[in-house]
Amino acid sequence: MALETSKVSTDILVVGSGSAGAMAAIKAQMAGADVLVVTKGPYPSGNSTKALAGYAAAFGHADERDNTDIHFGDVIRNGIGLSNQIMVKTWVNTICGLTEELRGWGMDLIRDDDKYNQRPWEGHTYPRMIHHHWSTGKYIMKALTAKSEEMGIKALSHTIIGGLFKDGERISGAWGFNYRSGEFYVIEAKAVIMTTGGYGAMYPIGDNVGAATGEGYAIAFDAGAEMIGMEFGHYLPTPVYPESMQVKFTFAGYINGLINEGNAKLRNKNGEEFFKEKFPETGATKLKMEELTRYIGEELLKGGGNKNGGIVFDLTDTPAAFSEHPRFARLWELADRAKVDLLETPLEVSTYPHDLVGGIKINERGETNVPGLFAAGEATGGSHGASRFGGSALSDCMVFGALGAEAAAVYARELNSQPGIADGDATAAADKIAGWRAKEKGNRTQS
Ligand SMILES: Cc1cc2nc3c(=O)[nH]c(=O)nc-3n(C[C@H](O)[C@H](O)[C@H](O)COP(=O)(O)OP(=O)(O)OC[C@H]3O[C@@H](n4cnc5c(N)ncnc54)[C@H](O)[C@@H]3O)c2cc1C
Repeated sequence: MALETSKVSTDILVVGSGSAGAMAAIKAQMAGADVLVVTKGPYPSGNSTKALAGYAAAFGHADERDNTDIHFGDVIRNGIGLSNQIMVKTWVNTICGLTEELRGWGMDLIRDDDKYNQRPWEGHTYPRMIHHHWSTGKYIMKALTAKSEEMGIKALSHTIIGGLFKDGERISGAWGFNYRSGEFYVIEAKAVIMTTGGYGAMYPIGDNVGAATGEGYAIAFDAGAEMIGMEFGHYLPTPVYPESMQVKFTFAGYINGLINEGNAKLRNKNGEEFFKEKFPETGATKLKMEELTRYIGEELLKGGGNKNGGIVFDLTDTPAAFSEHPRFARLWELADRAKVDLLETPLEVSTYPHDLVGGIKINERGETNVPGLFAAGEATGGSHGASRFGGSALSDCMVFGALGAEAAAVYARELNSQPGIADGDATAAADKIAGWRAKEKGNRTQS
């Protein structure tokens, strides 16, 4: 059966509708470009809607000694010196102004009178996280979505972009399909901004949304984009056993918190508190989250995992009062609901990717090495070096979403003509989809 094909034309195609994508769409349209957002989920979607704790911006409202130079130093140190320093300078210098612009669009982050409530976070010299308690992503996306609606930004939801078109070296558009209606799209665009997020959902457990399947990396790579730092991820510990406790939210705080405050222990398959070897005085207490994660991972690689695949999170010596503690009670509630007695059936934890650090290589203007291809957010790499520490993702997504969009708008304006999409390229994409659909109907070739 022939595919029903829709041809669409735009100056700038934004792929994705998380914090990077929504910001890019707004800024590109503000810069005078005709914009179309195509997103696999609804608008908004992605991990941005789930982000919890907040993001760092050196307003100096909690401690007036803070400033962008100190923020810059913290990012470089946490990235172990591998960050693109021009990008980091641009990012830390842009985020406060952009935050104020967002506030003007209705972003409701917690303030005490005329100042942001800035809380401390691991890796940051001064309290720097601005937030809406533990629902920050929701409030950011609420403001970005309201602004997008106010500006009448066009969007195709539930539509997966599967590949990019090129005219010679230049990007000329993309193809995609709506997985609800089956419609096939050929989208002519002068510039494309990839904001497709990470690939955390490729792992069987973890806190990422299901859409985080990482095809944006492959699509950009196939179009000739350089990648950077793909070996670096931001991993965190989460329960792997019992299965009923494999939560879809960020669990790491319970582990670190209960080790530090509640006498919880981590044990390998021999029952050993293996952290005691490394830190004889303290065990695992007072470790940074990333160190804790790394050592759990190392012990698993050494073969220290239990038969269920994880390191035992032993709560035997944790005082019963912690089950009613405001910060930890939820763990016991979850266990109750899952009918798990945490003393009889101890949790086993392993590490999983929380967000990705590397990706499509961009510069401080969101440009890739492919003319007409721009990118922002978790789909990209460069600014974080070897590690994306707390509160860095959302701010980076929004800053490079905004700056990438402005650069893309200039690029699109200066192009003399729309690069073309060869009929053969569009047909090849349509054939690919037809092939996939045939497989769904049972024509899968045997291998
Ligand atoms: C539980 C959780 C809590 C977090 N908390 C924080 C926090 O407190 N602070 C912080 O800074 N960071 C936090 N992070 C990390 C941060 O949320 C993400 O790194 C960030 O939101 C990524 O934004 P993004 O716009 O790049 O991608 P996303 O928000 O993931 O959006 C990706 C978009 O691309 C679309 N898409 C993907 N592939 C395609 C395709 N092929 N075609 C069309 N559309 C496509 C998706 O549908 C989605 O709309 C958290 C992450 C998680 C999972």
